[in-house]
Amino acid sequence: MKQRAEPEGGVLYLVGTPIGHLGDLSPRARALLIAVDTIACEDTRHSGQLLTALGSTARRCSFHQHNTQGRIPQFLEELGNGHSIAVISDAGLPGISDPGEDLVAAARQAGHAVICIPGPCAATTALVSSGLPSGRFCFEGFLPTKGRERRERLTAVVEEQRTTVLYEAPHRLVKLLEELQQLCGDQRALQVTRELTKRHEQQIGPTVIAALEHFQRHSPQGEFTLVLGGASEQEQTCLSDEQCLEQLSARIEQGMKPADAAKDLARIAGRSRRELYALLHAQQNQAD
Ligand code: SAM
Repeated sequence: MKQRAEPEGGVLYLVGTPIGHLGDLSPRARALLIAVDTIACEDTRHSGQLLTALGSTARRCSFHQHNTQGRIPQFLEELGNGHSIAVISDAGLPGISDPGEDLVAAARQAGHAVICIPGPCAATTALVSSGLPSGRFCFEGFLPTKGRERRERLTAVVEEQRTTVLYEAPHRLVKLLEELQQLCGDQRALQVTRELTKRHEQQIGPTVIAALEHFQRHSPQGEFTLVLGGASEQEQTCLSDEQCLEQLSARIEQGMKPADAAKDLARIAGRSRRELYALLHAQQNQAD
């Protein structure tokens, strides 16, 4: 089938770039990055190496989380003037835990065509190689780093019955594994993928406890994507009194009132709020 000529004027292209292995840049992505008018790069210096190696002389323009709102009107004007723009991130697919989403929405709203030149994405690469169910899955990206928001998102993640994919920074990985172990127990299925497509690519699992024990022995280095098996109905109701008290104390230490902590935990522990509140009281009475 004859393909249309690319790039076309007035079109915004989202271009997937390698997440490690440079051989994963597609011929179509390469041709487009050479021929397009402007390339919006998450980091012009980082992408400069790839673009120079390709021989691309397209205008490079920074486009990251701190200048998104200022850049969008400029890019819309360029598109309106019939120029073509490619968006690339440091690695992988723009718009997946990377800049791109707001620009795509604005371009579509302004009536411009948006075309994705697909490429590697750590989330889907980790998912399909994990051995966990991939027919239905959720993507959570990076969890909030602390506070109530983190707790709520983690609670939702461990309750989720579909496979969930998460990104995490190396210095936070052990903390996340400890939290998952507290909330889902030892045996929940988990594959931690490290350095996908790179020389030292690794899969560490097959359970939360196996991954935790591994990273307690080997300090996490590199890039990580986690694939967590979904909760079974049985798992949602298996927290013991001791586990419930640990969970309640953690919530109270983070600033929740006891009644709110009981209400929050009741959603995942398979226990009623009243029962959890009574457990807390019994513990306090014992301590007095
Ligand atoms: N847009 C990218 C994509 O499509 O995969 C994701 C960008 S996000 C800012 C970066 C995170 O993706 C990393 O912190 C890590 O969690 C994950 N990641 C990226 N490259 C990876 C790799 N080669 N192996 C494992 N995880 C990776």
